[in-house]
Amino acid sequence: MLTITLKPGKEKSLLRRHPWIFPAAIERIDGKPEEKSKPGATAVVQSASGQFLARAAHSPKSQIRARVWSFSENEPVDHAMIKRRLKKAIDYRRAAVRDTDAIRLVFGEADGFPGLVVDWYGGKDGHLVCQFQSAGVETWKVPIVQALIAETGCPNVYERSDASVREREGLPLVTGTLAGAEPQEETLVTENGVRYAVDIRTGHKTGFYVDQRDNRRLVMDHANGRDVLNCFCYTGGFSLAALKGGAKSVISIDSSGEALAVAQRNMALNGFDDAKAQWWDADVFKTLRSLREQGQSFDLIVLDPPKFASSPAHVERAARAYKDINLLGLQLLREGGLLFTYSCSGAISADLFQKIVAGAASDARVDARILRRLSAGADHPMTTNFPEGEYLKGLMLHKL
Ligand code: SAH
Repeated sequence: MLTITLKPGKEKSLLRRHPWIFPAAIERIDGKPEEKSKPGATAVVQSASGQFLARAAHSPKSQIRARVWSFSENEPVDHAMIKRRLKKAIDYRRAAVRDTDAIRLVFGEADGFPGLVVDWYGGKDGHLVCQFQSAGVETWKVPIVQALIAETGCPNVYERSDASVREREGLPLVTGTLAGAEPQEETLVTENGVRYAVDIRTGHKTGFYVDQRDNRRLVMDHANGRDVLNCFCYTGGFSLAALKGGAKSVISIDSSGEALAVAQRNMALNGFDDAKAQWWDADVFKTLRSLREQGQSFDLIVLDPPKFASSPAHVERAARAYKDINLLGLQLLREGGLLFTYSCSGAISADLFQKIVAGAASDARVDARILRRLSAGADHPMTTNFPEGEYLKGLMLHKL
C-alpha cells in the first residue's frame, strides 16, 4: 500500500478539507517502487503522527503531488465510489439545470472527481465529452466512461484531453472516441430556445462555453430594441441570445475565422435576420479604439475575453488588459446602457476584478451602477473548501 506521510503541521489544510497536496508538505512516501512511480496510484495520506487524513491519487510528476479522493477512512476508492459520485453529479444537474441540452455533468473537485470535466451535448443521441486533467481520473478512465454511459443512456463518448494542464501532470495530450460513434462535424444543442452547432473535435475546450449559459440568458432578457456589441464572440453565443431577445442590431468581434464560420452557421440554424448582424474578424483592442475614434456607441456591450492571466505570475499584465477593454467598453456605451463584463482567469478574484472595472470607470469618468455580480451556472458549483474552483466572474453594469 502506498502511504504519504506529511511533515509536522502540514495536515492543517487537509483537516480543512482542501483537496490538494503539494510536494513541500510531504515528509516521505512509502510503498513498493512500482507503486511509488505509478501516476494515479491511490495512497493513504497521514499526518506526521500517523493520523489518517485522506485517500488521494498520487501524481509523481505534478506540482499538485496528490489530489484527495476522500477524507473518510471508510470510503474506499473503487468502482462503487465512481458510480455513486457520478450518479450524484448527474442527479444534481437534472434538478438544477433546465432549458438546455448542453450541460456540464462533472466539474472536477466540486463533484469529487479532481481534474475531470464532462460536458453533455445533445441528449441521448448526442455526445459526452470528457477532459481527464489529472493522473487520478486518468487511471479510472474506463470505469468512469462505463458509469457515464450507464447513468445517462448516451453511448457516445469523446475525449478532449488536449488542455495543456495535462502536461503538468506528465500526461500526453490525447483526443479521440472512447465509446460509441465518432462525433459529426457538428452536434446540435438548444439553449434557452437558441440552436447552436458545437464542434466537439476542434472547438475550444469541449466545444462550447457551457459556463456562460445563465449570462447569455440575461443578455437575451435585456437585448430588446438595443444596439449590441459583442466582443470576443467565439461562435456567437451572446450574439444569438441578443438576437433571440429582439436586439435591433448586433456587431460581433472575434479574431478566429473558424469560430466566426460556426457563428454564421448558427445564424442559419436559427433563421435570424442577417441584416441585423455583422461579424467582424478582427482584434478587439484595436477595433474598440477605432470605434471610439469614429464616435460610435452602443446600448449593450458584452466583454467576454479569453483567460488573460494563466497563472498568478500574470495577474498584473492581465489586470492592465482587463482595465483597457473595460475602459473602452464604458466609453462606447450610451447613457443608460448595459455592460456585461467577464473574467475567466482563476488568478483574478471577483474582488480584484471589481476593483479593476471600478478603476476603468473612474478613468473613463463614468458613473456606473453594479446591477448584478455574475458567475458560471449551477452546473459549475463551487465548494466551500475549494475556492480555486471559482474562475468565471462578471459584472452587469448600468451606465448612468
Ligand atoms: N463569449 C463566448 C466565449 C468567448 S471565448 C461564448 O459565450 O461562447 C474568447 C474568444 O476570444 C475566442 O473565440 C478567441 O478567438 C477570441 N479572442 C482572443 N483574443 C482576441 C482578440 N485580441 N481579439 C478578438 N478576439 C479574440
